[in-house]
Amino acid sequence: MITLALSKGRIFEETLPLLAAAGIQVLEDPEKSRKLILPTNRDDVRVVLVRATDVPTYVQHGGADIGVAGKDVLIEHTGSQEGSDGLYQPLDLNIAKCRMSVAVRADFDYAAAVKQGSRIRVATKYTAIAREHFANKGVHVDLIKLYGSMELAPLTGLADAIVDLVSTGNTLKANKLVEVEEIMQISSRLVVNQASLKLKREAIRAVIQAFESAIPQ
Ligand code: AMP
Repeated sequence: MITLALSKGRIFEETLPLLAAAGIQVLEDPEKSRKLILPTNRDDVRVVLVRATDVPTYVQHGGADIGVAGKDVLIEHTGSQEGSDGLYQPLDLNIAKCRMSVAVRADFDYAAAVKQGSRIRVATKYTAIAREHFANKGVHVDLIKLYGSMELAPLTGLADAIVDLVSTGNTLKANKLVEVEEIMQISSRLVVNQASLKLKREAIRAVIQAFESAIPQ
């Protein structure tokens, strides 16, 4: 049995064509079902639904053999861009693309604050990425960890800036925030448990190869 960990929403939707290329069809719609283990058309493959941030944990510790996780989630999981023990990242799937950016209120002069060497209060869910980014720039920041609705932080005076994922930019615009710096491009990667790769080599290699052949350009 191969267990594949996916999160609901964009990653699930954009992984379906890759699964199709591997001859795998998920038999239930996660938006309609309450089941956390979804059967597929193949008796030897099942999908488990987990929170996006839990995908690396499931795969690293063998709760799933393979998974799909955003680069943002993987960096936050390992605390750096180095990778982590037991978690093999063979493919950038080029799906669920967006960017990690710094955004501020339109009336906050970010460039001046950086230039003057002021301490900037930054609210984010992505503390590892933010810490590394500002350390590399030599900017002093006080990081404020949030778990959601980051856009609210500059509007309420909790922070001067946020570090968040941006796709269309509509969420920032709706909250009168402006993007002032792109930190990195984000896409989702295939992650594989290293022990599974040895023990279920043939089956997992086949999935990796099929996914690779179907990566969108
Ligand atoms: P947008 O309004 O299209 O710029 O989308 C921004 C919102 O969607 C932010 O709240 C992000 O946290 C979230 N978001 C955008 N793209 C992704 C992604 N690939 N993965 C997870 N969250 C995302």
